[in-house]
Amino acid sequence: MDTTVPRDRTSGWVLSVRDLARGAGLQRELTTRLPAPAAVSLPLLGIPEGDPVDLELRLEAVHEGVLVTGTAHADLTGECSRCLLPLHEGITVDLQELYLAAPPAEGADEQPLVEHETVDLEPVFRDAVVTALPFRPLCRPDCEGLCADCGIRLEDAPAGHGHERVDPRWAALAGLAGTRETSNTETEER
Ligand SMILES: [Zn+2]
Ligand SMILES: [Zn+2]
Repeated sequence: MDTTVPRDRTSGWVLSVRDLARGAGLQRELTTRLPAPAAVSLPLLGIPEGDPVDLELRLEAVHEGVLVTGTAHADLTGECSRCLLPLHEGITVDLQELYLAAPPAEGADEQPLVEHETVDLEPVFRDAVVTALPFRPLCRPDCEGLCADCGIRLEDAPAGHGHERVDPRWAALAGLAGTRETSNTETEER
């Protein structure tokens, strides 16, 4: 029975749009930095809770309600899915959401609403980031991963890293691979 995250933490993501209520056509730009909400991540990569998120937004009163567009930028922390190397990289996502002034007559439950003259940016932000995250992040596209035998990161291992249980005859062949054996043992790949 832990106390849940204080309301406070997320309140920054709820933006007042009171000033836009007077009618369509009004708009406002907003540049701000907010602490990342919880759970903006996949298992291997994400934005740590509380880390700064830089937002450049345009809030626009439209016929149906309030249109929010813009970008969010933050730093990701995680690890390579193959070699477990720590990853740190930036992510920038586009945000776009229409907040309806009134619930639609039917259906379209997924469309968020302007509530109490505010819009809640957090779900939009989370969706945009999580959708953009790779399920299997890599330190580089051709990461070789870890040695299945000893767990060393193959990129850091000396060339020809291997283990005793490799049949010595294969090792001998490998040694010759640079010369005549190539033509015999390998069918052409190019
Ligand atoms: Zn890697
Ligand atoms: Zn090894």
